[in-house]
Amino acid sequence: MRQLPKRPKLSPLLERRLGEETLKITRSTSPKEEAETIYANSRAAAWFKPIIAALGKLSGMGARCMYCSGSESSDVEHYRPKSSFPEYAMTWKNYLWICTPCNRAKLNQFPIAADDSAILINPLDENVWRYFYIDEFGNLSPTWDVQRDDYCLRGIKTAEIIGLDRQALQEARRSRMDDLKEKVGDTIALVKANELTVSAAKSRVVKWRKQPFQPDVADYFLNGPGRKEQPFKALFSLLNAAT
Ligand SMILES: [Zn+2]
Repeated sequence: MRQLPKRPKLSPLLERRLGEETLKITRSTSPKEEAETIYANSRAAAWFKPIIAALGKLSGMGARCMYCSGSESSDVEHYRPKSSFPEYAMTWKNYLWICTPCNRAKLNQFPIAADDSAILINPLDENVWRYFYIDEFGNLSPTWDVQRDDYCLRGIKTAEIIGLDRQALQEARRSRMDDLKEKVGDTIALVKANELTVSAAKSRVVKWRKQPFQPDVADYFLNGPGRKEQPFKALFSLLNAAT
């Protein structure tokens, strides 16, 4: 998971169309079946394509999955499953863009906490780095919840439901972390030796942020709380001191 850009508004035309389809579902005598049919027809229809394009744009270069950041997305995810929440089947705010392995893992799971709030973290509409961090081995791990005196429940459950700690993903994260640390170390040395300008170093950071290989790791260390860890901290203080 990584922090994604804010979800933009859809065009009034698309919102109206989604609203019309939602009305058909909520007025139906069998909303679950109606939601399945209407969604399947819409997904294949031309009018729905701008929605897919908008989701693809939000997931950035390489269209990495909004849950695992590891594979190319190909599936529209209903954050609240349409089997339990047919009224949200045609709602823009309920859509994410994810890969097939994550979709297969999640299926219709959507646990609810004792206070009725969602347990699954929504990477588009929430601050994911409240719940996760990247540890020293490059693993995506749940943060510690002081009140609970345990790892945070939403982080644990989200990782479990989606399988965010799949071995292949954790290995890829470690590889991306090691690579980033090496690049950052080299860049610091070059700037200090006056062999690379600060502005060229900043361009490197912009490029690393966009690269589609486990972008969750780059987001954590280059945009998120990981900026405070070495060697990232040293890089940003060097770049900021120069401006
Ligand atoms: Zn995925």
